Order: sequence, then C-alpha cells, then structure tokens
Amino acid sequence: MPMKSLLTSTVLAACLLAAPVMAQSTDQARAVHASAEALIKTSNAERLDELKRQLEAANLPYTLQAFEGGNNRTGATAGTNIVLTLGEGASDIVMTAHYDAVVLRDGAFSHGVVDNAGGTLAMVEAAKALNQTAGSLKHRIIVVLTDQEELGLIGARKWLEQADASRIKAVVNVDVAAYGQTVMYGLNNGDQSKDLVKTLRHHCAETATDCEAFPVYPPSDDRVFSAAGIPVLSLGIQNAVGARQMWLAFNGGEDNGLREGFVPDVFQNIHTHEDTIDKLKADDVVAFSGFLSQLVARIDASL
Ligand SMILES: [Zn+2]
Repeated sequence: MPMKSLLTSTVLAACLLAAPVMAQSTDQARAVHASAEALIKTSNAERLDELKRQLEAANLPYTLQAFEGGNNRTGATAGTNIVLTLGEGASDIVMTAHYDAVVLRDGAFSHGVVDNAGGTLAMVEAAKALNQTAGSLKHRIIVVLTDQEELGLIGARKWLEQADASRIKAVVNVDVAAYGQTVMYGLNNGDQSKDLVKTLRHHCAETATDCEAFPVYPPSDDRVFSAAGIPVLSLGIQNAVGARQMWLAFNGGEDNGLREGFVPDVFQNIHTHEDTIDKLKADDVVAFSGFLSQLVARIDASL
C-alpha cells in the first residue's frame, strides 16, 4: 500500500476510533432515549405523571385506573394503571408492561431503566404504530401500563379483576427490554399459551430475529393472566450472550457451566443502583417495538 493512502487510512481509522459511539441512530431512537431519561424520578407517582405527559404529547388517548394496592411490607398504597384502547372488535388482544420502578433495599428509588422504562417505551412505540393500523385489525388492542408490578403484580391483577376476561384472546407482556437484539420468551405460561408460542416462533423466523425460548422464564405480570387460564406471552430483550447466560442460570441446573457465583449481566443491573440510563440502547428498543407491533398484528390475523 502506498505511503500516502496508508497514512490516510491510519488517520481515518484513528478518527473512527475517536468518534463517540452513537447510541441512537434515528430521531425515533433519540426521542425514546430522552423519554427514558425523563422517566428517572424519585417516586412512581412522578413516573406516572411523566408517562401521562409523554402520551399526551404523542396524541395517544388513555384512561387511568386508580386502585388500592400495596402489600404486607408497604401497607395499603394507592396505585394507578394507564390504559390505552386502540381500534375495536368483539374480542381483545392485551399488551402489558409495568412502568413502576422498585424501591431498593437501602430505601433508594431505582432509576428503573432496564426494569422497566425500556419495556414501557417499547410498548408505547408499538402502540403508536398499531394506532395507525388499528382500523384494519380484527381485535381491539388494549395496552395496560401497570403500576405495582414490583409489589407483587398488583396493578395487573387489579386491571384483570375489573376486565371482561371472556373477551381476552391473547396477552403479550414485556419486562426488561432496554438493550440487545435477542428476544427472550417463556414456555412456562400453561398449555393455553401453546398456539401463541407457535405464532411467536413463526414471527421470529419470518423476521430473522434471534429468539430464545426459556422453559423456565422469570415471573412478571404475565403470571396474573396465565393463572386465570388466559393465553399469554412474556417477552424481554438482551444481548445474545447475556440471553444464553440467563437461560443457563434458570434452566441449566447445578451443572450449568457458569462459574461459581456468576450472575448474568442483566441481574447485576436490575433492582440495584446500576439500573441506569447508560444501559439503554434506544436503537434496540425501537427495533423491538417494531417486532412487537408486527407480532400483535400477526396474532390478530392468527386468531
Ligand atoms: Zn420488571
């Protein structure tokens, strides 16, 4: 290689190395990043107000479901679910994500970015997309942004208590979705969810998405619906290696090959002081929101 072009390519390489890594490559991703940052608050009441503001700015109408919640540890605590209704139909597909963040053991309030501002915003972006096409769907879409998941799935339970469960044909729950392009899903939501899992598997194949099925997947709001006999999928995203490490941690048994004391990436962050905005990859959240809205359209067509 001639000296001059060698020099040019060395300079170019140096520039590329020095350039800041852009975490957000589109306007939509930059907006999602800003929305996640704005959701970092010191209470769930403030998170609720911020989310309402964001939905109003996006022209997405919602209703609020106030409930009396709390658990043995907290005592009676008021909570509020946010409910968006898109389109119409004789039966419903429900989408759930919890927006509440956890109070840490030392009393501090988690920034709650990975758990679950990312999942909440993936849901909101999917709702925006579905709102455009809701007229062509067979089912009514109900998006429930739940409160008090962290206190024991209370918001989801309170919502289901007042809903007409006979209308609900499918539920898609999202928890822990802030970075990575591997979609994780549980196989432990009962026989009634088998057809939904099949639809999800087709969707993964046809969108060339790396999806990982977990025989044992950690609980979230999905359990409220599976306990009621309702078909439900529980989804999250992770980087490819982290997803497999998490699979081994939950499904590999004693001899899972992970070193003694190993904690998968995501569990070093959530419910700790480390669940911070630097973990968010808004491009991944935006990509996942597209996966979600198309998945719901596929479920709509399959039922
Ligand atoms: Zn969560």
